[in-house]
Formats: sequence, C-alpha cells, structure tokens
Amino acid sequence: MSASTTIEQRVNDALPWIVDIRREIHRNPERSGQETKTQALVVARLKELGVEVKTGFYGTGVSGVIRGSRPGRTVGLRFDMDALEMQELNEHEYKSAVPGMMHACGHDGHTAMGLGVARVLMGMRDELAGTVKLVFQPAEEDAQSGGGAQYMIRDGVLSDPSVDAMVGMHLWPDLELGSVGTKPGAMMAGSDPFIITVKGKGGHASLPHRTVDPIYIGSQIVSSLQSVVSRNVDPFEAAVVTVGVFQGGSRYNVIPETATIQGTVRSFDEGVRMLVRDRVIAIAEKTAEALGGSADVDYRLTYPPLVNDPGIYAIVKASVATELGAEKYVEVARPAPGGEDFAFFAKAVPSAYLFLGYRKPGETPVQPHNPRYDFDEAALGVGVRTMVRCALDLGRGE
Ligand SMILES: [Zn+2]
Ligand SMILES: [Zn+2]
Repeated sequence: MSASTTIEQRVNDALPWIVDIRREIHRNPERSGQETKTQALVVARLKELGVEVKTGFYGTGVSGVIRGSRPGRTVGLRFDMDALEMQELNEHEYKSAVPGMMHACGHDGHTAMGLGVARVLMGMRDELAGTVKLVFQPAEEDAQSGGGAQYMIRDGVLSDPSVDAMVGMHLWPDLELGSVGTKPGAMMAGSDPFIITVKGKGGHASLPHRTVDPIYIGSQIVSSLQSVVSRNVDPFEAAVVTVGVFQGGSRYNVIPETATIQGTVRSFDEGVRMLVRDRVIAIAEKTAEALGGSADVDYRLTYPPLVNDPGIYAIVKASVATELGAEKYVEVARPAPGGEDFAFFAKAVPSAYLFLGYRKPGETPVQPHNPRYDFDEAALGVGVRTMVRCALDLGRGE
C-alpha cells in the first residue's frame, strides 16, 4: 500500500482477517481473569505483525507498542478480552464452543479491533507521530474482584513508555451502525455495592421488650436510605441508591438475631460518589445504634464514574468526524448507568470513551448480556477506522 492509501482502504483490506479473529475468539470465550487462550492469540498476532509485546500485567493482560516515525505523544488504546458465564442461544457457525460461557458483551469484537488497529498502524508508521500502546485487558466484567484495569495500571502498563492520553470504546446498541458517539464529562456510572448486616438480640415474638429487633431496625435503615438522593445529593446531580436484598428471620414468631440488606449505588461524579458512601454508612450505623442494635457496613468502592477529559473529548470528536463524516458523529445525551473499569484509566491519564453503534435501521438490536447477543461485524471496521484516526490525531497532539 502506498502512503496515499486511506485508513478506510487499509481497514477494508484487513476486515476479513479481523472478522476471522473475532469469530475465533467468539468460539473460545474465557472467564474474567482466565483469558489464557485469548492472550496467546493476541500475543501471536501482535508478534506476527512485528509489534513489541509485553505481558505480565495482571495475569493475562498484554501491551503492544507501535513507534511512529516522528516524535509525539504516547496514546493508549484499550481493548477488553473477557466473556461471561452464560449459555449462548445463537446458532451461527461461530457459536461458543464452551458450555456455559459466552462473549455476550462484544469483548471478542473489541479484542479483534485491537489487533486490527495494530495491523493498520504497523503499515502507517511513516505517518504516525509519537507512540501507540495497545492495552489488551482482562476481567472487565469482574467488578467484584475490582476489574482488570486498576491491576494492569498497578503492574505498570501505563509506563515505559509513559501513556499521555487514552481511548476506550464499546460496541453500543443505542447508536446506529456506522456511527460513533461520546459526550463531555461523565460517560458511564460509578457502580458500588454494599452489604449491611444489622445486629440485634433475638427472642420470643411475644416479648419484644427483651429483644433488639433487627428487622425493625433494618426497615428504618431501608426507609432512611431514600433520603440520601432526595435530601443530600444536589438536585442538579444524579445518583441511584437501590436495595435489592432485605433478608432476616426464619419463623413468624421468632425475633431474629440479624438482618441483611444488600444494595448498589450508581453515581456520575466522584464527589457525589463519596457523599453517598458516607451517608449510607452513617445512616446504617447511627440508625442501628439509636435503636439499640448495631450495623456492620461492607461498602465496596468498585468502578468509579467514567469521566471524559474535556481536551481528549474534543480531539476524538473531531477525529470521528474527520474519519467517518460529521453526520456519523453522535453527541451522546446522557451517561449510561452501567459501570466500566476503563474509568480507572480515565482517572490515571486524560482519556475519552467512545460508543460504537451497531443498531440497524428498523431493527431492535439485541442488548449486551443477552444469550442471543450479536452485532453486525461491519461495526468492527468502523471501530478500527475510528481508533486509528484517534491514535494519529492524539499522537500529533491535535
Ligand atoms: Zn458487559
Ligand atoms: Zn462490556
């Protein structure tokens, strides 16, 4: 290919190879943190392309470094690799070969796009200013273990060379195939679970004055938690406090010793996130104390809100318009209430996160985490074009 070959032409040339890789990964889905076959595939393909490869980031994490011909910034591009413990119900020829495991969030597509970006950029090093670091991440879906992003950062993935800016992307059902979107500020929610164990003193249902009733205390806590959003959070900010589990007791005529409340908090701003955490803990502990019992609060800060950097947002927005056409850029109206551990990268370096559309006109797209999830593979070409253009523009600092 000559220097005048467009990104679109290069991506079209690579697309069958990218689709083959996507299907191979789709057939072999792997659990969060156990992406060994996927890692081997990523390493093998990167080495075939001549990319500098490093491993040893949180087990199966991989980085690939591509150096441009001119000085510039180091741009990180992140691709997640893990699948979900669920049975695929599709019958296509690349259906999961692993019972009870499925790529139902599109991370097979993300990983294949990362390799596509590597292939295209290796052919464009003459035009590349700076360095591109491809980050293949394990365990995005495993919020309970903290996700893979923060541990890849701990293991040094953002240094040597030091990453100046970062871009992440997710296949997205709410945008049309061919479009890419983002927004300024919060892009996805912080997602923090909590477990409150209310301790009382059990006894006979007919003698409540000789007990401390954890069900009554728990009821007051559940009610008072509703005041956090309505009375403590700024009305121009947003948060969710949901209790999904309230358990206690084993018989109608026994006051139990304990009751358990479990819930989740969603927030879009780090200050709001900490405010809600402090209020949930205080309400649980102080309400229980006031009523003669006690409460242990296990409040886990898992994924922070994913907030786009204003400068990187502006550059990637322009990159999308340049590469795909201004009409294909979508300014996303609201942050999504799901969590995404790219948020840890966005906290570490100025970053932006993009949604990659796969909805077809007139069709209802299958949502992620559905056993019939699938997407049009043409979206992969759009995603690779976008990422390559972002890397070139961010590398130049434009
Ligand atoms: Zn997911
Ligand atoms: Zn996902």
